[in-house]
Amino acid sequence: MKARFAPSPTGYLHVGGARTALFNWLTVQKAKKFDDNAVFLLRIEDTDTERNRDEWTQGILDSLLKLGLNWDEGPIFQSTRLDVHKTIALKLYDFHLAYWCKCSKEDIENRNSETTNVGYDRHCRDLNLEYQSGYVLRFKVPLSSTTKFHDLVRGEVQIENSTLEDFVLLKSNMSPLFVLANTVDDMDMDVTHVIRGEEHLYNTFKIILLWEAIASSFISTGESANKPLPSFAHLPLLVNEKRQKLSKRRDKVSV
Ligand code: GLU
Repeated sequence: MKARFAPSPTGYLHVGGARTALFNWLTVQKAKKFDDNAVFLLRIEDTDTERNRDEWTQGILDSLLKLGLNWDEGPIFQSTRLDVHKTIALKLYDFHLAYWCKCSKEDIENRNSETTNVGYDRHCRDLNLEYQSGYVLRFKVPLSSTTKFHDLVRGEVQIENSTLEDFVLLKSNMSPLFVLANTVDDMDMDVTHVIRGEEHLYNTFKIILLWEAIASSFISTGESANKPLPSFAHLPLLVNEKRQKLSKRRDKVSV
């Protein structure tokens, strides 16, 4: 078993984050009773350079140690793996599982204002564009079926794929977005259990589709074994005494 805590250093450790870390740590401690190879990995998801600060990374590490939530592997800094994320995204493009998109935010908003559409309208999906400066790489969501998984907290959950956006994998400067970096890292780091807040439940459908696409292109090139999907557990959000979602502005949430 390998579980991980994967905070983004966009602020000091939040009590919700500390609880997520605690659930991961406890799950691993329990597994260690039976499994000598059980691992608690700490991965710092620091790819968003505009929102991250070194002092926040240090604050997260210090808080975890103070709480006794010591990790067995890491910290691994996601920002050291940008080339890996990019290589995999470009491979998806080679396999026609992703496409370059030239639409600006304004283009998308203007088109949507004439329809009931929200989000990206898949305008460039079949245009076979080559990369040019300013373009982003989008994942081609397989539209026909549904994506389901068994959440360890919530049971069966599913979504119609056609309701999912063709989400961005790489920005025009080739840096990865969350879903890509998170999926590739869980895959490469052999994570078996993803335990996190329920705000990520919706992302998990995208992550599963992307995981399957990466695994299928790996199989076709014979490069790597098909890694099984991890198990997912989405924890309910913490609320304050009025049962409102905790907010950084209103509540005292910093550990
Ligand atoms: N970096 C994400 C966050 O802090 C982690 C999500 C995850 O655990 O997969 O919300």
